[in-house]
Amino acid sequence: MNQEYEGFNSLAVHAGTINDAQGSAVAPIYQTSTFRFNDADHGARCFAGEDNGYIYTRIGNPTIGDLEHAVARLENGYGSIAASSGMAAVNMVYLAFLGQGKHLVAHNSLYGPSRGVIESMYVRFGVESTFVDATNAENVAKAIRPNTSLIYLETPANPTMGITDLEAVVKIAHKHQIPVCVDNTFCSPYLQQPFDFGVDMVLHSMTKFINGHADIVAGIVVARTREIYDKLRPVMVNMGFNMDPHQAWLTRRGLKTLGIRIDRAQENAIKVAAFLENHPKVQWVLYPGLPSHPQYELGKRQMKGPGTMISFGLHGGLEAGKRMMNSVQLALLAVSLGGIETLIQHPASMTHSKLSKEARLAAGITDGLVRLSVGIENVEDIIADLSQALEKA
Ligand SMILES: *Cc1c(COP(=O)(O)O)cnc(C)c1O
Repeated sequence: MNQEYEGFNSLAVHAGTINDAQGSAVAPIYQTSTFRFNDADHGARCFAGEDNGYIYTRIGNPTIGDLEHAVARLENGYGSIAASSGMAAVNMVYLAFLGQGKHLVAHNSLYGPSRGVIESMYVRFGVESTFVDATNAENVAKAIRPNTSLIYLETPANPTMGITDLEAVVKIAHKHQIPVCVDNTFCSPYLQQPFDFGVDMVLHSMTKFINGHADIVAGIVVARTREIYDKLRPVMVNMGFNMDPHQAWLTRRGLKTLGIRIDRAQENAIKVAAFLENHPKVQWVLYPGLPSHPQYELGKRQMKGPGTMISFGLHGGLEAGKRMMNSVQLALLAVSLGGIETLIQHPASMTHSKLSKEARLAAGITDGLVRLSVGIENVEDIIADLSQALEKA
């Protein structure tokens, strides 16, 4: 309620819209599909947009609205639209800005389905696409066509950890009046605020850091301006991408501790990355906090911290990576990321297995790449676990 506070953790705890008659400390769960109008004229005014009363939960709900308000505040955006999953958020953006004869330019290393859905489904509706290495902004400039209607990025990208210069890409895109969307899932607003660099939309799989407890699936898109917000919201409403109030309530609860969870996990990740880089069985490590990262300086400028995601490869390649993944005991061999627990997975055979081998290799997703999401456990235990697993690799 205290909108005068500006600190990230203060907003994460307090930003909200619900101030109920009971004085609830926490926004209640409005587990209702529909809302009673005061009278017929009130109902008509709600539908005409002249009264912001609630109508129907697919269109809007106070518990969902409370979460939307908080995330928009933390990203410094005009407003946000929550969705049933991260992929619903991705598709909200695609459906709002792509269509028959339109062209997408996107980074070549993205969350697997964010690229897969374009190449397997949108292509059936006449959408064209070019995937480039956006870590060099010149590649984005070269890929733009007269019909390009959206530029879509992830930075750091999943799972190659490549960092894109947002300011440089936005400058190119806006010269052509093309909107830019950044999937900010890997950082959350705590570590990166893409609106600072002029980006037009930010989206999150809130399944990851924002909720942070590996117990729900959820997504959100944040718009920098009202114009963009007004393009996105009807897609959510009409496609039925809406969130459920209970899911919104759990996400809002998880969000409260986002800052302290990341502080702890990041502290761990910095130590784990150093441990891996110095391990004789490890061939390479990609982590924005290591000076060996190819965009280390850019990452320091653009991000408030190096995050908790690490990609690495072993000298023994995929077979050694598999032996390591089969030997972890504390870390879970599981996809997803950004939760309180340490997770390890193999993108080429798991999250990115739907991409063609050529597309994977062109994007830098080699067969030997292992992805680690560092959690909040005691770092000595995480390192001891990775160390014993590496012995077997
Ligand atoms: C998980 C993820 C998504 C998809 O989100 P879901 O909640 O699983 O639908 C999109 N982008 C990134 C970067 C992700 O990690």
